[in-house]
Formats: sequence, C-alpha cells, structure tokens
Amino acid sequence: MNMLFNDVYKTNNRQVADLASKLVRIPSHSKVETKETVVNEFIMNWFEQNNIPCEVEYSGKIPLPVAYLDYGADKTLLFNGHSDTTNVDFMKNPFSGEIKGNFLYGRGAADMKGGLAAVMYLFKYIKKTRQNPGINLAFAVTDGEEGGGSPGAIKLAKKLDANYCIVSEPTELKIYDSCKGIYFLKLESYGKSAHLSAPSFGNNAIDNLLGAYDYIKNNYIDNVTKRSNQNSLFVTCSIKGGSEGIPDYAEMLINRRVLAGESAKRDINAINALLENFYKSCNSNADIKIKKTVDFGPERSPMLTPKNKNFTNLCIEVYNKISGTNSRPMQHPGWTEGAIFRAAGIDAIIAGPGSVEYAHTPFEKVDIRELGRAVQIYALIVKGLGQVKE
Ligand SMILES: [Zn+2]
Repeated sequence: MNMLFNDVYKTNNRQVADLASKLVRIPSHSKVETKETVVNEFIMNWFEQNNIPCEVEYSGKIPLPVAYLDYGADKTLLFNGHSDTTNVDFMKNPFSGEIKGNFLYGRGAADMKGGLAAVMYLFKYIKKTRQNPGINLAFAVTDGEEGGGSPGAIKLAKKLDANYCIVSEPTELKIYDSCKGIYFLKLESYGKSAHLSAPSFGNNAIDNLLGAYDYIKNNYIDNVTKRSNQNSLFVTCSIKGGSEGIPDYAEMLINRRVLAGESAKRDINAINALLENFYKSCNSNADIKIKKTVDFGPERSPMLTPKNKNFTNLCIEVYNKISGTNSRPMQHPGWTEGAIFRAAGIDAIIAGPGSVEYAHTPFEKVDIRELGRAVQIYALIVKGLGQVKE
C-alpha cells in the first residue's frame, strides 16, 4: 500500500500541458454563444475514452461533467474547477495553446484550464494504477464563475455528497484554507435641486454623500480595517450623480470583501445607526440610504475551513514536502467557488497550478512544471486521505 502512487514523481509535465493546451484551444468565455458547452463536451469525451465514468448535470443548457472514481469507501474527495474564462479583448492569440519553453500560453492557461487538466490527468493516472486508494474521488466542472454567479457550483454543492473539496484555482500550488466573500454596498443620497447661484434653496446631494462617507469611514470602516488587520476590505469603486444645478441625487458604490464572521447585515445595521448620528451632528436635512446591491449575482460568502483538521494538515504537509518549504495554510485574496462547497458542509481548500499574476491578463500563461507538480500533490493528498482514520 505504501508503494501506491510512488511513480507519480515521474509525471510527464509535457503530457499534462498538452491536455491543458487542448482545453485552452476551445474558447469558453462569456461572449461565446454556447458558453462552456464545447469545452465541457471535450472533457466528457476524454473521460469516456479513458474509461472513467462521467455523468452529466445541467446548468440551464450547459452540460457539466461530473467524473467519478468510486471505490466504495466511506469518504469522498471532490475536485472542482470552472471551465469558463474571462474574455479575450486585447489578446493577440488567446486560443493558441502554444507551449514554448516552460510555459503554456493562452486564455485560461492559468485560470483555470491548467488546473482542470491536472485533475483530469490525475484521474487517468489513478485509474491506471488499478489499486484502491481507500477514498472515492469525484471531479465537478462548473460554469459561469467569471461574473456569471456560479449557477453550476450552487446546484452541484446541494447534490454531491463529499467530505473534502479541492478547488484547483491558480495558487502556484500554495494551500489556501479560506477566501474572502464579496458584496457591494451602495450609498444613495437624495437632495433638492436648485440654481447654482442660489444653493440655499436646494440641498446638495453630493456634499451630503461625501460628508456621510467621511463620517462612516472614520467611525466604522477604519475600525473594521484596524480590528481585522487587513487592508482593502472596503474599496470605493464608483461614484455617480450631478448635473448643471445643485445635484439632487448622488450615489457611491463600495466593494466589500468579507472575512468569515462578518456579514452584510451587520455592516448595514452599524452604518444606518451612524447615518442617524451624522444627520444630527451636521443638523442637515440629508436623506441618505445604504443598501446591499445584488446586481453582481448572489451573495458570495467567505470561506473558512477550520484549522487543524486532518484534511488541511495533510494538504499542507504534502505541499511542504513537494515544495521544500515550511508554510501554513493561507487566506486567498479573492473569492472562489470553494465557498459554495464549504457552505454545504464540505471541508474545502484552494490549491492549483498557475499564478494570479497572469490570470485575467492579456499575457496569461502557466508554468508547465507546476502542472506536473499539481498532479503529484493531488495524488499524495489522495493517498494520505485514504490512510486517514477519523
Ligand atoms: Zn478562476
């Protein structure tokens, strides 16, 4: 049993990269009419050719592959990745899938067709060993992650029965056991218009908005930021309003990155109480409302897999062994679908090939040595989980 997967160290980086290249060559960004359909059909056919059972779920019309390696074990490890990419404006050859030197180039190479290919290759490798690793494996491909509200992940998290989840988003293979949630806060300021030469007849919505924001920042935002010791939890990202007279309306959008334990409700209650004080303190007839906007899809909650679980301990041990480092699980700066699976009660981590430095950029690429190392790390986690007794 200890010999299981020992030859995974011989994983051929180029073979994993060739598979990733095939995925990159199939466009699957939001402007493609059939979205992820063609790339997902490729994935389903590939599993079929390799005699690995693959069922299909649907997100609207889009087929979502769910591959299984079922050994009748008590526990299941689910791999997850989205097959959509960001769009390809300003890219020269987004679908070349060219492999040159140590890199595979093209849209999705890092985020996250490299990660998908590593998991596919892992399944093929494990199938080939014809040994029982002591844990069931599943691989769910999801849709619409890049701004589409992740409908597939929401559906599959309710349906799939798993104990552990690895999201193969680009982390340079580092282990993340948490990620921040996202929502938007909108401050709306209503005033009264008047001629610019006679502002006292009006009520300046922009002045009121800026004053209120300042008050909220000094009395709430700065405190939350200080308490958590993290920057960029509130980022003002758009401001609108104004005309040729005294403005009667203005609004400000704030992007809120949420840590585990924080919530939109708590923000809004606290900010509403402050707005009351603000009205009193400036004796103004300002009319300012705060609300959570849902224009950007369903609420994306934060993810936190408890520390010191066998699963997270094992993942970081394997990562440290392969990378020769002594690191600890970290917090992912962005949001991932791991949060959806975690909310369904599954312990989740985020770890995959590729760097966020290149994801979403016109220069997207992935280091093919990381693709091979991803297969190794995943295989050793599978092997370790199969031996864990809880
Ligand atoms: Zn991604």
